[in-house]
This record gives sequence, C-alpha cells and structure tokens, in this order.
Amino acid sequence: MVTTGGALTGGLEPADAGEGKPSPDQSYYTAMAMGFRFRVTAESGRARRGEMTTPHGVVQTPAFMPVGTQGAVKGVLPRDLAGLGAEIMLSNTYHLHLRPGDRLIARHGGLHRFIGWDRPILTDSGGYQAFSLGERRTIDEEGIRFRSHLDGSEHLLTPEKAVEIQANLGSDVAMVLDECLGYPATRDQAATSMERTLRWETRCRERFLEVADRRPTADRRPAADRRPTADRRPTADRRPPTAVCVTNPGQAQFGIVQGGTHIDIRVASAQATVELGFEAYAIGGLSVGEPPELMYEVVGQTTPWLPADRPRYLMGTGTPADLVESVARGIDLFDCVMPTRNARNGQLFTSEGRLNIKNARFADDPAPPDPACGCYTCRHFSRAYLRHLFMAHEIGAATLNTLHNLHFYLDTMRRIREAIVFGSLDNLRLDYCRLFSRRPVDS
Ligand SMILES: [Zn+2]
Repeated sequence: MVTTGGALTGGLEPADAGEGKPSPDQSYYTAMAMGFRFRVTAESGRARRGEMTTPHGVVQTPAFMPVGTQGAVKGVLPRDLAGLGAEIMLSNTYHLHLRPGDRLIARHGGLHRFIGWDRPILTDSGGYQAFSLGERRTIDEEGIRFRSHLDGSEHLLTPEKAVEIQANLGSDVAMVLDECLGYPATRDQAATSMERTLRWETRCRERFLEVADRRPTADRRPAADRRPTADRRPTADRRPPTAVCVTNPGQAQFGIVQGGTHIDIRVASAQATVELGFEAYAIGGLSVGEPPELMYEVVGQTTPWLPADRPRYLMGTGTPADLVESVARGIDLFDCVMPTRNARNGQLFTSEGRLNIKNARFADDPAPPDPACGCYTCRHFSRAYLRHLFMAHEIGAATLNTLHNLHFYLDTMRRIREAIVFGSLDNLRLDYCRLFSRRPVDS
C-alpha cells in the first residue's frame, strides 16, 4: 500500500522529484495542498485500485469523469449525475472564462456553488480548446492568442492566466497550460513543443504557489479572530478587478506529460515534469488520431516514469476498450465526451457492443436498449420508444440516451475496480476488446 499527503518528495520510481533541488517550505506547501491525497489500496499487474481525496470528497479510482463543458453535463442534471454514482466531473476553463466569466463565478462562491455540484471538479487549462480554434489562434512563448468563438474578441491565454482563471473557478484539480500537438508530428516538432510545455508548466507552478499564498488571510483564521465590518466583505469586493479570488484553497495542480508518439521525448517530458513537483500527473496529446495500439504503447512506456504514489490521468480518452487497456497500463483517471456526445447522436454503449438507436430495425422493438443494464432508461423504456424520441427530435432522447451511456461508463469503472481487487482484469480486457475495439458501428 502506498500513501501520500501533500509532500513533494518520496516514493518516486524511476523518477525522483526532490533530488538535487531545494524543497519549498513544508508547512506552506502542506497548507496549500491540504485537501489532496492519494492512496493505492490494491494492485493487479500494473493496474491500481485507489482513493483520491479532494476538498469536495473522495474519488474511487480508476475513475471516469463525465465532461460538463459549460458547467453542465449536456442533457442531465447534477442530481442525475450524482444518482449515477459519478464522483467527479470535468469542466472546461476556456468556455467558462469566456461565458459567463470566471470572475463572475468567483463572486457567486466558485464553480461548485454556481453549478450546484458539491462533489469534486477537475478543470482543464483551456489550452486544448484554444488550440482547437485553428486559424483563430496563434501560439508563441508568452501563451495562446485567440479570438473568441462567441464574439470574435481577442484574448491571450498565458500559463499564469490559466492558473488564475482556475483559482477563480475553485476546481479541486487544476491543469497546467500545455501545448497540444496534432498527429502525426515529427520528432523535432514533438521535442520543441514538449520543451515549450515544460517552460509553461514551470510558470504555471510558480503562479499556482503565488496565488495560494495570496489567498485572503481572513479565510485561514478562526471566525472569532476576524475583525468585523471591512474584513468580512466577500474577497471579490475588496480587490481590484484584476485580482484573483482563490475560491478553493485546497486546489491541487496536475502537470502534463507531452511528446507526441515519440517514446524518448515522452520519457524526458515525464522526468522533467515530475521534477517540478505537482500533486499528480497527466498524459496529454493522445487520442488525437493515432492508432489505438500506438496510444497504448505510449501510455505503457510513460506510466513507469510517473510517481507510483500519485494519480495518473489520461486526458480525453476514450472508448470502453481504451479505459480497460489503459488501466492495465497504470492509468487512474479518464475523461471523454464520447458517452455524452455519442448519446446525443443516438449511439448507445451496451453489454453487446454499440447500438445505433436511429436504426430502422428498432422501430418496433419492445426490448430495452441493453437487457443487462439496470439504468433508469433501460428499466423504463423500449428501443422503439427511444428511437421514436430521437426521430421526433425530443429533448428527452438526449437525456435518456446520456443517462444510459454514462451509467455504462461508470459501471465499466466499477467493474474495473472490482476486477483489480479480484485479479480478474485480464478477463475484462478480453470482453471489452471483443465488444469495443474501434470497428465500424453496427449497420
Ligand atoms: Zn441502461
């Protein structure tokens, strides 16, 4: 069993973050990361069963994070998300910064309060969305310049700004700003981009520590010690408009490993990122068009270089088969729009593979979408009804399909966690590989 608190050093294999560099003041650091812990409770091969503790609760890992781009998982309410057993969700910094604005969200008490979700939230840095704007963005050393997809207004997303926006949002986990690289990329492109990501990560970490230190003193003192009147006004009211309002002092920050599909660059990135000393580490820049086998190879060659006592997050992946295969290579956290986006397009993930509810052969089919599924949708509705809702463009089609797909993904993670404990992960891998390898959808 491996445990960790907020400490920077210790237990790093094969990399070692603490060696050869001065360690920050321990009490300061512990206070900053006080809400974050990770504990591995069981292992099976390289797969790990664990618990990640955040200021808003514990997440059983390996875990899947439903994506709530605009502070809402499309089609379902936070109440339903909690009912499905989701323990953490992801929200997108780029979208929330542009609309309604992170300072507005801070004035409303932070993202959890604003969106009515009191469980953990991870926010991305906004870099991926800004990067995806194509012609509307340019990247230089300072950061990413882009035009808003909403009104064309010009913005500059720097590493420091990405930290500040996420401090305002008050997510439990903030991601560093990284440069995203498309596939394929040459070795030189991957190396240059990875080095810029490292410089950006360094700036992100410095700003993150600075921002935490600037959180209002009043918040750290017992209520009885606080002076009346002026000091009790909300932080946002006392500060100039450019100031940062740290709405979640226990926020953790994850570093990101880049390097395309070049293993040696990935390893160099992992080693240098671990040197910077983040609470945990993500693998970014995958699921961008490379073959699945190549993604598995990169994941499998990268995780050994990340500390065993910190969560490992594979960003933006994937199919149910990708989840199982990546857990087997040491990944603990996932996010992907696939279950929610595909649901809105009528594609359901079932125990018999993918099912396209639009298909005419379901028009008169009284069976539930997945006879083996216990979700609300499958317990109450037939394929014929779901197809009818979809064809009639009813809002309920998106809701019912999304409830089922998220249930399937979250249930997959439950099965994975059980399989790790009981040593049966290989059987699960065979099942999921057979059902969900990336072959064409049923016709
Ligand atoms: Zn179902």
